[in-house]
Amino acid sequence: MGKYELTRDFAEKMDSQDALASLRDHFYTKPGQIYMDGNSLGLCSKEAEAAVERAVEAWKEYGIGIWTQAPTDYFLYHDVIGAKIARLINADPEEVTVCANTTLNVHQVVATFWRPTKERYKIVIDELNFPTDRYAVVSQVASRGMDPDDVVKVVKSRDGKTLAEEDLIDAMTDDVAMVLYPSVLYRSSQLLPMEKLAKIARERGILIGFDLCHSVGNVDHDFKKIDCDFALWCNYKYLSGGPGALAGLYINKKHFEREVGLAGWHGNRKDTQFELRPVFEHAMNAGGWQTGTGSVLSLAATDGALDVYNGVEIKDLRAKSLDLTAYMMFLIDHELTAYGFTVGNPREDSVRGGHVALEHEDAIRINEALKAADVVPDFRYPNVIRLAPVPQYTRYVDVYDLIQRIKEIMDTKAYEKYENKAGTVA
Ligand SMILES: *Cc1c(COP(=O)(O)O)cnc(C)c1O
Repeated sequence: MGKYELTRDFAEKMDSQDALASLRDHFYTKPGQIYMDGNSLGLCSKEAEAAVERAVEAWKEYGIGIWTQAPTDYFLYHDVIGAKIARLINADPEEVTVCANTTLNVHQVVATFWRPTKERYKIVIDELNFPTDRYAVVSQVASRGMDPDDVVKVVKSRDGKTLAEEDLIDAMTDDVAMVLYPSVLYRSSQLLPMEKLAKIARERGILIGFDLCHSVGNVDHDFKKIDCDFALWCNYKYLSGGPGALAGLYINKKHFEREVGLAGWHGNRKDTQFELRPVFEHAMNAGGWQTGTGSVLSLAATDGALDVYNGVEIKDLRAKSLDLTAYMMFLIDHELTAYGFTVGNPREDSVRGGHVALEHEDAIRINEALKAADVVPDFRYPNVIRLAPVPQYTRYVDVYDLIQRIKEIMDTKAYEKYENKAGTVA
């Protein structure tokens, strides 16, 4: 007998034995709704809401004094929040900050870390990463008067879904200056061997960093071991920091002295920032890479959202996430293959992130039918329905019921009445 069973009783038993089950009470969930899109936008928590309300109150109460008089340190808020996220990826508190958005943080790391020489000038990316990262890299290269077709080296996928470790390593040749890879691929959920890749990059004299959008707050990264040069991510996915939350930026402490690529007064040393000197001297922490004033109301949501992690170990969340997705795959294998569904993500724990990539040739229409059945999934071209059972608020019965709803849609052919066309925000 395997670990999982096909009955709803089994799912209920799993929930009753789940030490993390009560975390769900922190979130606003809707009765009957099965939310599987926390990898696009995490749900609102009571802590996030309360922190935003506190920030509004402080604004009302103190006016400009919000920066210095409020009980919360809003002036150094990015450092406070950075430290909270640092715990989740095992980095030093001063190595993490929150600023801008993921796309701008890609611009920032290229502007900071890419110092092309005649011999070493290429930037390695991959063809499966979320395209905004590529747009940013290419435009940075072009803005410095170099030819992106020559400079940007793109690792190809052999199967259109995953990246071969060998190819990621072989791309790191002598002419490469810097590498930006994702931690987890947004479509197929593949988790890359970050520690190994970073070690090889170091040995070859290449700077390397990762985009953690699809892993931060879910995968138990150990940045002390990975020891890459930089990383960036958004805080509104698994971390549930709120729509458009300011993004994360990790700068390895060995680079604190490095010249900041995109400088701004908020990255200045804090003791002299308000002297408004003509020459920029950046703070000797990740906060040195701040540009302008951060959005306090948005930062507050992220600050509150991170409180949900208090007393929780990321490795326990990761274990539950892996268990929920393994259980989902078990149910797919037993209940859905007959309808033409396949699992598009890697199967082994060590190489997969927090969502299941459910594939079907009618994925667009099935995705629409799922929305009508009070499920929140999302669709990614060409044929993937992404299902993310976020361990903070997803129960085993949600996974069970999800599979039943999919079955019903297939049995009743409810999806046939939808157009074969995805919405704007799929
Ligand atoms: C979600 C995501 C982004 C989003 O970028 P924004 O600048 O926050 O809009 C970027 N890269 C990856 C890999 C993502 O998954």
